[in-house]
Amino acid sequence: MVKTIGVLTSGGDAPGMNAAVRAVVRTAISKGIKVIGIRRGYNGLINGDMYEMDARSVSDIINRGGTILYTARCKKFETEEGLEIAADKVEALGIDGLVVIGGDGSFRGAADLARHLDKRNREIACIGLPGTIDNDIQCTDYTIGFDTAMNTALDMIDRIRDTSQSHDRCSVIEVMGRHAGHIAVNVAAACGATAVLCEESIPLENREEILRNKLDELARKMMDERKTGKTHFIVVVAEGIGHSEEIAEYLHDKTVEIDKNENGVTDVDNCGIISRATILGHVQRGGNPTLRDRVVATEMGHYAVQLLVDGVKNRVVGMKDNKIVDFDIQEALSMKKGYQKHLEDIVNEISF
Ligand code: ADP
Repeated sequence: MVKTIGVLTSGGDAPGMNAAVRAVVRTAISKGIKVIGIRRGYNGLINGDMYEMDARSVSDIINRGGTILYTARCKKFETEEGLEIAADKVEALGIDGLVVIGGDGSFRGAADLARHLDKRNREIACIGLPGTIDNDIQCTDYTIGFDTAMNTALDMIDRIRDTSQSHDRCSVIEVMGRHAGHIAVNVAAACGATAVLCEESIPLENREEILRNKLDELARKMMDERKTGKTHFIVVVAEGIGHSEEIAEYLHDKTVEIDKNENGVTDVDNCGIISRATILGHVQRGGNPTLRDRVVATEMGHYAVQLLVDGVKNRVVGMKDNKIVDFDIQEALSMKKGYQKHLEDIVNEISF
């Protein structure tokens, strides 16, 4: 059985990471396992920035966003030299288990470290926990932080909606999730958006042209809806799809064009639909984790240590059909994940 485990958070932070750290530390201690907290992701392993954690090290953190272990990216860890130094530290400290809370990149790092130690005939059992607001980890339906981020985005959108309504405007709102529209389609459904634009439905090939066609259609739809009495609009855009300011400007210009050319409007103050972009940005990464994130983080953290106690190695913990499960790291990294296209379809169908 493992005697000493390390725990670290890596990649982008996510609300609920602290709850996961707490669950890992407390579960391990309850089973007589020593826990070393490693700061700033793999940097801490390379630089020796780590400390022994006890039950009180994780007091009063279950409700806090961010991560008390700090997080970072670490390029050096991706080199032979970096892995070599990290492996030395692991050996010196007698770390035989490692819980990594982060995304696919962090799991890849854990697998590399295990392989490196294997070459030295040393074993380390690595367990990955999915922690990212983007929900873009392939092997799991759900990642720690996703629920909090969506609720934060939704709260902000509700506020923008007030001002959008007062001014008869269209609000183009950019949410996080580069290459992943999970936040976008969910908040779009939840805020009653007129449209949602995400990478999954706008393929990379001919992206500009497809996006332009979509925006042309959207401008037309907004103008038609305005005739039925609709006065304000919300368009949710996933980060990475294009510049949201340019999207807002394009929509405004298109609606002006339609008003001028088809409706004969000449009054500049009442022509087209004024569109404004808001980039929600890092506000989505912070804040107290929701109940769901705290519960999932607690379950997953507990599960990770149980795997280590059971002698299971190199797994990623995930959630499938509301059950906590685990996969081999390599298998987890090769899996493919869809997005909730049906939510996008519903948004399009019932927004009029
Ligand atoms: P995420 O874990 O959220 O996917 P990154 O892709 O930035 O975030 O990865 C986080 C860290 O994991 C990197 O900074 C690096 O230290 C480590 N890492 C990523 N890919 C590898 C790899 N192929 N080999 C070793 N370490 C890696």
